[in-house]
Amino acid sequence: MHLYQEQTLKIYNSLSGEKELFKPIHAGNVGMYVCGPTVYSNVHLGNCRTFISFDLVFRYLKHLGYKVRYVRNITDVGHIEDDADEGEDKIAKKARLEKVEPMEIVQQYSVDFHQIMELFNTLPPSIEPTATGHIIEQIETIKGILDNGYAYVSEGSVYFDVVKFNEKHNYGKLSGRNIEDMIANTRDLSGQSEKRNPQDFALWKKAEPQHIMRWPSPWGDGFPGWHLECTSMSTKYLGNHFDIHGGGMDLKFPHHECEIAQNEACTGQTPVNYWMHANMLTLNGKKMSKSTGNNILPREIFSGNNSVLSKSFTPSVARFFILQAHYRSILDFSNDAILAAEKGFNRLMEAIDNLSGIKTSGTSSVDISGWRQQCYDAMNDDFNSPILIAQLFEGVRYINLLKDGKETITAADLDLLTKTMNGFVFDVLGLKNEGETNTTNDRLEGVVNMLIGMRNEARANKDFALSDQIRDRLKDIGIELKDTKEGTTFSIA
Ligand code: AMP
Ligand code: ZN
Repeated sequence: MHLYQEQTLKIYNSLSGEKELFKPIHAGNVGMYVCGPTVYSNVHLGNCRTFISFDLVFRYLKHLGYKVRYVRNITDVGHIEDDADEGEDKIAKKARLEKVEPMEIVQQYSVDFHQIMELFNTLPPSIEPTATGHIIEQIETIKGILDNGYAYVSEGSVYFDVVKFNEKHNYGKLSGRNIEDMIANTRDLSGQSEKRNPQDFALWKKAEPQHIMRWPSPWGDGFPGWHLECTSMSTKYLGNHFDIHGGGMDLKFPHHECEIAQNEACTGQTPVNYWMHANMLTLNGKKMSKSTGNNILPREIFSGNNSVLSKSFTPSVARFFILQAHYRSILDFSNDAILAAEKGFNRLMEAIDNLSGIKTSGTSSVDISGWRQQCYDAMNDDFNSPILIAQLFEGVRYINLLKDGKETITAADLDLLTKTMNGFVFDVLGLKNEGETNTTNDRLEGVVNMLIGMRNEARANKDFALSDQIRDRLKDIGIELKDTKEGTTFSIA
């Protein structure tokens, strides 16, 4: 018996605009694809919010007992500035500015992305395909679309014919846009463009002589369009029809709309049963974004090195801050908000530490199994992590009352309380009890400050042999003292 057989999960499907009962195509198995990062700069906290949201989905599905194949790509070619068809490739541009190879940019920021994901305790996907590693598959998808008459070749590039596609299919069904309105709202390019219609989008772009990221194709040297990689790679690893596709809300149009069109044009099948979109993290009320510079980087949070922060925060506190909002709500970042999250996080961890000291009795005055089901109900309702967290604080209340002897609990119920708290806090929410490392750091700081005090005393007594000895011994173990006008500070190598 698996947990998914007892629990009824509902997922909000962006395609229908409704919460729907989740039923995987193959019982017990789930195929999930999530659009990954374009690796031309460090991921900001907004990007991380989306990946943490889908990590929660992945973790909960696994917790329910599903066997999940989770595919999250790396975009390392084809993403043009402003998400357009014309202009410079984001990675090629960064490489030009930094005077390095595009693949050096890709390597640098893929490594950074993985480090940050690990610090946030997100589970690695089952498969992490790259766009440059799947050029052949993308060329095959284009051939399929051309064969079915939904694309055309123009000046060495291949474009998707949106108007033709819309005659038999529905272009706009995910984003709720209407093609007639789209056409009416665009200026006539009076034949200046290679495209038949401004709404058409590139499947393959001809590479100009100076363009370095290029591959041979039946249409000449070029590179794939941005939307194509996700169509080719999702279906390669999950089949033409799979369960869940996720990404940030800003990808709904045009990226995901175009993905659906490409799939349907190539295979005749609509690719995805449940489309999920995570909402944006904002800063000062505006979307966090790489291009505008309105963002905060995870490492700035971990070091406290950003003017909006009064102190540093651990990755688990930042993760907790993110999960305190539902993934479909907008969340605004502020120092006060993350400070409040830290308080809540510490209260939760303290209560978990207290679980082992609770004494059991012959009867329970608390309804643990009813409470446990309420935790599941929260997650079953479209992964409602804020409601789950509210339930976990109800668990904290029980723990505190039990600790003070104001309620009673049997051994079996205490076991259930402990398993449920640990299961949701560590396995499903993916938090880590980092309190230990913090206290160790605090203690180390206390010891060094004590030695600094003793050294000052020695100096005041003109015992320079002792004061130098303290400084040198500390240096030997990698702690360097610095005498400034304001006093002595230290750094740890
Ligand atoms: P990119 O690297 O720009 O392709 O973005 C990677 C992922 O981060 C996509 O799923 C975006 O939708 C998502 N994303 C970008 N900005 C934000 C934001 N401010 N809040 C949440 N997710 C975001
Ligand atoms: Zn994508």
